[in-house]
Amino acid sequence: MPDMLTSIATVSLGGTLREKFEAISNAGFSGVEIFENDLLSFSGDAYGVRRMADDFGLKIVTVQPFRDFEGMPEPQRSRAFDRAEHKFDLMEKLGTDLFFACSNVSPLSLGGINRAVDDLHELGERAAKRGFRVGYEALAWGKHISDYRDAWEVVRRVDHPAVGIVLDSFHILSLRLDLKVMRAIPGERIFLVQLADAPTLDMNVLSWSRHYRCFPGQGRLPIQEFMRALAATNYGGPLSLEIFNDYFRTAAPAQIASDGYRSLIHLTEGMDTETHKTFAIAPKAPPRVHYDGIEFVEFVANRDTVSDLEKILTQLGFQNRGWHRSKKVNLWTQGAINLVLNSEHKGFAHDYLQSHGTSICAMGLRVDNAQQAHERALAYGCTSNEQAIGPGELHIPGVRTIKDSLVYFIDRYGARGSIWNVDFRLLQEDNAQAAGAGLLAIDHIGQIAPIEQMSSWALLYKSVFGFDAAPQFDIPDPSGLMQSQVIESTNREIRVTLNAAQGRGTLAARFITQYAGSGIQHIAFSTNDIFATLQTLKANGIPLLAIPPMYYDDLEARFGLAPALMAQLRANNVLYDQSNEGEFFQAYTQSLDNRIFFEIVERRGYQDYGAANAPVRIAAQTEILKSHEKFMARLEM
Ligand code: MG
Ligand code: MG
Repeated sequence: MPDMLTSIATVSLGGTLREKFEAISNAGFSGVEIFENDLLSFSGDAYGVRRMADDFGLKIVTVQPFRDFEGMPEPQRSRAFDRAEHKFDLMEKLGTDLFFACSNVSPLSLGGINRAVDDLHELGERAAKRGFRVGYEALAWGKHISDYRDAWEVVRRVDHPAVGIVLDSFHILSLRLDLKVMRAIPGERIFLVQLADAPTLDMNVLSWSRHYRCFPGQGRLPIQEFMRALAATNYGGPLSLEIFNDYFRTAAPAQIASDGYRSLIHLTEGMDTETHKTFAIAPKAPPRVHYDGIEFVEFVANRDTVSDLEKILTQLGFQNRGWHRSKKVNLWTQGAINLVLNSEHKGFAHDYLQSHGTSICAMGLRVDNAQQAHERALAYGCTSNEQAIGPGELHIPGVRTIKDSLVYFIDRYGARGSIWNVDFRLLQEDNAQAAGAGLLAIDHIGQIAPIEQMSSWALLYKSVFGFDAAPQFDIPDPSGLMQSQVIESTNREIRVTLNAAQGRGTLAARFITQYAGSGIQHIAFSTNDIFATLQTLKANGIPLLAIPPMYYDDLEARFGLAPALMAQLRANNVLYDQSNEGEFFQAYTQSLDNRIFFEIVERRGYQDYGAANAPVRIAAQTEILKSHEKFMARLEM
């Protein structure tokens, strides 16, 4: 297996050139494609860039872009060659040998394959004299050449050892071009392969490419088909990620670079045996494990808020079932739900409390092989979570995923038994109270992330955990839009709704600001009888989120529900939805500390999340938040 050079274009990341090189090198790449703009803002000269690349162990694959070259009339043609000579000088200083020419988009350019062949032949001659090579790429919006098959025809006719083709998965797959011709290109005539994915969008291909490209696996283009066709060519050159994406450039460069490398591991994993033989681009991770649910969710609270939290859990029908043997950690249970309340004054949870306040700091996922799940996450670039354990306690493997987010892997089937029996002193279940409020299990987790982190989270869930990520969609908020994406494990044992804010005033954006980053905003519990559950919650005095009466008028018009059911929905502030699969009922508690809240859901065959109701819920929460802010402002006056 050839050891392929993996590379990423500097244009994919934000930051200074040094920050980019550092992030790229740390993430595991061996090469880098420099975008010329990045040189303009560098304080040293080209030799300095070369030294810096050397220091970070990065090979400069090429320097991009060279535009509007072939098919120009005079005097533009001569000028294009002068520009090329300048670029050769720069390449020499940078120590790179690949000249990268994109097909001409200038309205001045003249068509005709012979003209393009002549120009590229002359360029090849000039490049060869200086020991360089020329790679020619068809842009999907090129004026005369927009199809890789035409670019290949030009390169084939140029028939010069210093002239080859550049294949870019976006330009080829966005136009849905047939890959048959690609399979027949001899690998040594392909000088560079660029990889980019993209979501399915119905828009102009130029804007699509410039703003919405993403890493392989984050979008919907058939990248694996592209890789299979590439394998047939026996290509052995660099694989370079070239992503133009506005959000990527505002995110932390280290996060984006490691997402890029993670996407290559994921890409490798999805390859069939034949294709994988050709491309050893990244180390293979241990196989994915089976996830069968969320074993626990861990809250962190300080001395003041822990009692609020305990109060609301009691009102929700949870019972305090026990204490951790060596830590200030409580277990609260109901049905199959385990909630852990951590008020330690040291360790991860305490650090988390310091930076985020009262919040959900960790999740324990139940798997069939915790060790393997842990190893797999590490192979995918997560860092291991190490913490002190007391005598006789279980070691629970855990990883930090994105930022300080912590996930534990719980071996439900481990030889030493469940963590609750080993690490906790358990109380007898109070049978009189055992039914609680009829909450059965964790239906889903609602997570909020800054918009520039959204695709990082989706990739994490897809690759490390092997979950499915549905396409993103918009949810209106009174102050903007929320981007939403549903993540589900196989058989939906674990479900996450991932939301990100667009617009500073949105509820999601306020959460991000208040919370200082991404986090879990709500937990949805399932019940078999939402009205009975709400009856108990009301009796326990829990404040529910009030739904405006107009919502119900609209609901009545949309679904034509029976009057008795309508009355029940109204009386209990229950939101309702329907799909081909069935019916859905949901209600919300008011937020704790204006941040975390709980959702109660009853599914009757329905498998979605009531997205149509989300704007109503968000508007109602925003109302409360705003009146709270007014109240606080008055207090301060
Ligand atoms: Mg390209
Ligand atoms: Mg929800």
